[in-house]
Amino acid sequence: MDHTSPASAPPLTPDYVKAINIGGLTHAGFSGFLYPAVQRPLAQFFPFFTEKRQTWVKPQISRDHIQCVTVGLRPHRASGFVVRSEPLGMKTLIHNYGHGGSGWSLCWGTAQLVAEELKKTTATKVAVIGSGINGLATARLLQRYGYEVVIYTKDIPPNVISNRASAGWSPTATLCDEGKYTPEFKKLLTTTARISHRFWQDFVGIERYGVEYRFNYAGDDLPFGALSPDDIGSDIMDLNGEVIDVAEADSPFKFAHIHKTWTLRFQVPVFMQAMQDDFGIAGGKVVIKEFGKPEDVDALPETVVINCMGLGSKGVFADPELMPIRGQLTHLVPQADLKYSFSWRTKLVNFNPRHDALTCGGSTLPNIWSMEPDKTEVDRVIDGLTEMVNTRFAS
Ligand SMILES: Cc1cc2nc3c(=O)[nH]c(=O)nc-3n(C[C@H](O)[C@H](O)[C@H](O)COP(=O)(O)OP(=O)(O)OC[C@H]3O[C@@H](n4cnc5c(N)ncnc54)[C@H](O)[C@@H]3O)c2cc1C
Repeated sequence: MDHTSPASAPPLTPDYVKAINIGGLTHAGFSGFLYPAVQRPLAQFFPFFTEKRQTWVKPQISRDHIQCVTVGLRPHRASGFVVRSEPLGMKTLIHNYGHGGSGWSLCWGTAQLVAEELKKTTATKVAVIGSGINGLATARLLQRYGYEVVIYTKDIPPNVISNRASAGWSPTATLCDEGKYTPEFKKLLTTTARISHRFWQDFVGIERYGVEYRFNYAGDDLPFGALSPDDIGSDIMDLNGEVIDVAEADSPFKFAHIHKTWTLRFQVPVFMQAMQDDFGIAGGKVVIKEFGKPEDVDALPETVVINCMGLGSKGVFADPELMPIRGQLTHLVPQADLKYSFSWRTKLVNFNPRHDALTCGGSTLPNIWSMEPDKTEVDRVIDGLTEMVNTRFAS
């Protein structure tokens, strides 16, 4: 086994990551700019320069389309996620938890940080605790690097928080609190997000993984604020794709300000199933087991254990900073012809079309542990989006 130059993993030098990202964005930004500015005037004189016309599909928002309501608790830490090694008895314990509302986005980046910690040991067989998106991404990455991996977990998908995510590229969503993270964490996040974004691109276009680029629109009557250089995520904005100001005539949305980005979207059940399948095909074993205290972890046969228990880490390892940020999604029946996501900033409501559902949400409630669906929140989201469709969407 060669831990330093894995055969199947891409070389993750910053230059490589940067070149790929700049290349991708130049294309997306240019095509978005070309149509309104150049193509329309040219079309007057040269008929073959026909204006690009888009057919706008109206979202079907209705109470009788509700198929289920899910509640998830984002594992939030004010100072950001934890990836760190520490001794546990005779073992090495590597933590990988606390990803807030960014766990899907960052999973490959933090898995890579784990792999770097693991290189400092002589282990060839490791235990991963947890089979949410972080447990699965960590387990798969380590398999690609040649390790033998056993997953120990209380629950498997779909009964994990990761299956209750929306889920799109959002590397700083409810990740940490202003004034509570260090400049070092901000730098680490930048590296982690770039690595993760690069890994995600390798899944795009392979149907069985369900990873896609989609247009995401945000509408509001107030101007969108800009990030200051000190703000978390200010130096990874390019990974969101270029933010395009959409002219009123170029969309059906009746808002004073409309932004469009070309963003990564993850088909949650599709990707989770593919990851479980890949883990098994590569020889991985899953053991159903609940851990209550560090001694239970110490009793495992593997000499290196990676903790990917998300919010479950609070109970087992007594992290006082870890807390839930509750989010609720109302799943409407899928609408296959709808291809864009939308969020109304001031109202804090959004919809995201997936293969399994048109998910509608927008709630972030700190320190609420209840997993019971809240009807008031269903009403807030459905009423807000119905208002958008009825009053802010030109048919
Ligand atoms: C409404 C909502 C929308 C979201 N949208 C996005 C988004 O758009 N983009 C994005 O990047 N992220 C999003 N997130 C955040 C993302 O879902 C989380 O960051 C991510 O799911 C955390 O994954 P995890 O693997 O660390 O934890 P989990 O998914 O919670 O997995 C933890 C695993 O550990 C196991 N476990 C826990 N405790 C124990 C124990 N004591 N013993 C044994 N096993 C245990 C569990 O069974 C599970 O298998 C969203 C979250 C919510 C709730």
